[in-house]
Amino acid sequence: MHKKFKETPRVFTLLIVLIFLGVAGCSSNNDTTFIFYGGDILTMDEFAGESVEAVFVKNGRIISVGSKKDIFEQKESRTKLMDLKGKTLLPGFIAVHTHPDLSAYLHSFIDLSGFTNNTPQAVWEQLATAVKNTPKGEWIFCKGFDPMLVKGLEAPGIRELDAICPENPLVIIAQSLHSAWANSHAFKEMGITSKTPDPAPGSFYQKDTNGMLTGFISEVEAIKPFSKAAIKTYDIKQNVVKVYDDYMRSGFTSITSMGLVADDRKPFLLYEHLSTDHPRLIHRGLELIGMLPDKKPTVRHFVYIKSDTPFLLPETPDNGDDFFKVVGVKIWYDGSPYTGSMYLNEPYLDSELTQKGLNIPHNHYGKSVIKTDVFYETVKKYHEMGWQLSIHSQGDRATTEVLSVMETVLSASKDKDQRHRIEHGVLLPKELLGQMKRLNMTASFHINHIYYYGSALKNDILGDKRAEKMLPIKTAKEQGLHGTLHADAPMYPEDPFSLLQTAVTRKTKSGIIMGAAEKISVLEGLKALTINAAWQLHMEKKIGSIAPGKYADLIILDKNPLKVSPETLKDIKVVNTMINGVEIRNL
Ligand SMILES: [Zn+2]
Repeated sequence: MHKKFKETPRVFTLLIVLIFLGVAGCSSNNDTTFIFYGGDILTMDEFAGESVEAVFVKNGRIISVGSKKDIFEQKESRTKLMDLKGKTLLPGFIAVHTHPDLSAYLHSFIDLSGFTNNTPQAVWEQLATAVKNTPKGEWIFCKGFDPMLVKGLEAPGIRELDAICPENPLVIIAQSLHSAWANSHAFKEMGITSKTPDPAPGSFYQKDTNGMLTGFISEVEAIKPFSKAAIKTYDIKQNVVKVYDDYMRSGFTSITSMGLVADDRKPFLLYEHLSTDHPRLIHRGLELIGMLPDKKPTVRHFVYIKSDTPFLLPETPDNGDDFFKVVGVKIWYDGSPYTGSMYLNEPYLDSELTQKGLNIPHNHYGKSVIKTDVFYETVKKYHEMGWQLSIHSQGDRATTEVLSVMETVLSASKDKDQRHRIEHGVLLPKELLGQMKRLNMTASFHINHIYYYGSALKNDILGDKRAEKMLPIKTAKEQGLHGTLHADAPMYPEDPFSLLQTAVTRKTKSGIIMGAAEKISVLEGLKALTINAAWQLHMEKKIGSIAPGKYADLIILDKNPLKVSPETLKDIKVVNTMINGVEIRNL
């Protein structure tokens, strides 16, 4: 039996036509049908049973799944037989919280991060090579500077930077994106002197006791002129294409922008080359496809608009299509564990790292970044308009307060199955998960805090007791919350197998296990990256599992994640990706 699926809206049909007009260079077209067989098939579909041996794909959709014999009976003259040869077929991964615009902006920067450099020496050598290879006078932008991941790395002063890089303007951006360092040449290019006023509270160009620039730049508003210089220097449009390819190469067939960076009432990074006078995003999917070289198909793209850029929001949640759609509104309630802005019930630990490295004062609890009454009004407004809310909340105090507001709003105004989200949930208290379920809410976990910063969180920031309770994904699953995992790229690399391995092993980079009671199985981890993610986006009837009627968004892996040691999940490779029934090869 084939499930019936809904009529495709006209805009979507047009999109499909556009895609298939443009895929002359690809290995398939809309007439081709496919049968996948000859390897393990992990459907993520609770109704499929154990014995799926083959999958039939036609017109961009999964038509049927079943035994090899039954599926081969449906073979047509133009059916392409896809022998998996022992490899494993899975539904494509869904990135539920990522930032492709920021990744495109940072893509050409020199990488000084702790993901690729283990020692201070490696960082400075990387920079020296960049200086050597850049013609005199050209800008050098670096990203990822991070004394927490690279032990012993010290922030540079302006004199050191001038000595390393005397003939080029140089800017180094911190991994947090909240601070930067520049040399004299860069300040001169920007016309910034020791007399330049602070651009906003907390955003400033630091001066020493003699009133001279130290090279340190604090916060986003002060960094902005340099960001704009970077946008002029690099081909961001080309970078967008590369970033999309990176997602597909990693096995993502759908991604979710958690807020678009906007400036002057229009999105200023990813979409700056698109229509400028009409900021609404409906139909942008078509334009996006049109801009890609060879009009290759690309990932499905879902978008949350930040509550402070309401001019980007379409009039109703019913907008766009299954390739590009604005699905909700993003609101911040607190900040980051590493800047002192995570909002806690108990204060941050006093440690060398918190006090000297992160400048967090003694007996500091963090605080909310939005006033409670403003938060309440914002939640109420968008909830009543029918939008899904995605609320950034890291600390236990933050989530407690968020839920109390949600409780008030939802008791006064009916929930239209909006599935409001809590983002990150570092210290999401287990005791609140039942309340979240009752409010039809869900959580997306920033699981690689454990891998990259686990020892710092345990030893220096939160202490043993709280570190053990971090990121309670197993309890969330037991409470029926449809929990998901995200990397928040460019914060952490967008690698689904790294997220999976951390959720399954709960191991830090240094090998310590944190919160063993919250380990989940590999299958649960795969569901968090596929069908649960589809549910969070209200797309569970269309993507997220291999089931009749769903889009043929599929990936082939060299190994079956259920059959390898959990410690080697990260070594699994994606060997092919299919989106909407079109194979994407040789990315
Ligand atoms: Zn984010």
